[in-house]
Amino acid sequence: MLRDVAAIFSEVLGSGAVVADEAGMAGYLTDWSGDHRGMAAAVLRPRSVEHVSRVVHLCREHHLAIIPQGGNTGLVAGAIDGQGRRAVVVSTERMDRIRSVDPVDFTLRADAGCTLQAIREASEAADCLFPLALGAQGSCRIGGNAATNAGGVNVLRYGMARDLILGLEVVLPDGEVWNGFSGLRKDNRGYDLKQIFIGSEGTLGIVTGVEVKLFPRPTSVETAYLGVASFADAMRLFAHARRACSDLMTAFEVIGAECIELARLIHPELNVPVTAPVHILMEVSASGPIDLRSTVETFLASAVGDGLVSGAVLAQSQSQARALWSIREGLVEGQARRGYHVRTDVSVPLSSVPAFVDEARATIAEGFAGWLPQAYGHAGDGNVHFNVLPPVGLNDAQARSTGKSIETVLLALVARFGGSISAEHGIGRSKRDAFWATAAPVHKRLMRSLKVALDPQGLMNPGCLLPAEDAL
Ligand SMILES: Cc1cc2nc3c(=O)[nH]c(=O)nc-3n(C[C@H](O)[C@H](O)[C@H](O)COP(=O)(O)OP(=O)(O)OC[C@H]3O[C@@H](n4cnc5c(N)ncnc54)[C@H](O)[C@@H]3O)c2cc1C
Repeated sequence: MLRDVAAIFSEVLGSGAVVADEAGMAGYLTDWSGDHRGMAAAVLRPRSVEHVSRVVHLCREHHLAIIPQGGNTGLVAGAIDGQGRRAVVVSTERMDRIRSVDPVDFTLRADAGCTLQAIREASEAADCLFPLALGAQGSCRIGGNAATNAGGVNVLRYGMARDLILGLEVVLPDGEVWNGFSGLRKDNRGYDLKQIFIGSEGTLGIVTGVEVKLFPRPTSVETAYLGVASFADAMRLFAHARRACSDLMTAFEVIGAECIELARLIHPELNVPVTAPVHILMEVSASGPIDLRSTVETFLASAVGDGLVSGAVLAQSQSQARALWSIREGLVEGQARRGYHVRTDVSVPLSSVPAFVDEARATIAEGFAGWLPQAYGHAGDGNVHFNVLPPVGLNDAQARSTGKSIETVLLALVARFGGSISAEHGIGRSKRDAFWATAAPVHKRLMRSLKVALDPQGLMNPGCLLPAEDAL
């Protein structure tokens, strides 16, 4: 069976583009967290949109499902299918050409397999900024960012991937190529079709090209690290900072002090400049002749004067700013090093963030002795990663079983606060049942209608986002 599938595609793509041996496929079938393992008949690595289209035609003919994959950094098993024996993974990694950068139109077009880092660097080389930025940017790919509607640290100023994408090129489930590039910022010719594919997690087609909006590259950036007494004070400070910094804030990351030990697992020499129950990493940026430093200094002086901030450091150099960011990035890696843990990616209304964190912490303390909550996130967007580490030494099977119960309790709490169980990572396979169980019937009907209209054979990423049996 495996050899047959490899032979079908090798003829079209060339043999180097088809991986069908277990060792070769292993990296594609394990996700970044190591929590999910998948299977596939083969991994295909096309180099062009024409090749992707041929692949889709062949998959239709041979009744093989298609799992699109970018950098495989998604955390919800969207590009990993444990049931994928009759599926091929289509990796975009060899489609990695920047097609054009236009600093006058402020646009960039690229193959879907370009890493987010490569897109950011190509923009910078043209004195522009592509503001999508996230911890996985060296590995995640722009097609994956489109398919997951990625967020990241700059959402509060620039929006999510959905706000930054001008056009897409997509190979549809019937193999036809839809070219949705126009370069236009204003275009009211009916349905905005690209939006159907953004956030569709590979269930409606394979994104092969992406056209994004660029912005002027900031010429001044100020990075501050602050300590406050509580999440409630953090959100008060956020509202104050937005106004006091002329809405030029690009990041407002909130970190519960309990997370700092995780960052130290990665950077043992870490210098954390404040001691407080809640830490804040804030970035303000501007292009043009604005005295950003004095704006931020004035804001900090007033926040300290009001007693809202107990300690504050303003980075004096780029390397100091990078060191401050390494606290935030290190804690994510440190968590991964701790192995299995309950991972959530939720959002609640901004004003509810403090109450949500307090209740979630109390729930864990009361019901799950020894489990350690870690609350941090892009809180300026109401996005909290409320993760929970198992007690050290608990065996993996027990941890996963209790972890499931904890996740159920936390997601119910999110619903009570009128929030979302997925602020940015998506639904994939790991959040599918929780999502589908709570979605309104009319919501599910609309989703099914779209799926069946575009993919009547149920070829694209079955079981991701909506249950496979519901999609036909
Ligand atoms: C350390 C770390 C930090 C992260 N931080 C953030 C963050 O701040 N914000 C955030 O939003 N996410 C974050 N993520 C999650 C992840 O990086 C994003 O979801 C990212 O957009 C996924 O891109 P990818 O190329 O790795 O996609 P993959 O993981 O390969 O795929 C994700 C989904 O998209 C589909 N897909 C991929 N490529 C295509 C394509 N070309 N066409 C159609 N469908 C496709 C897949 O089928 C799958 O359903 C983080 C992950 C890690 C590991």
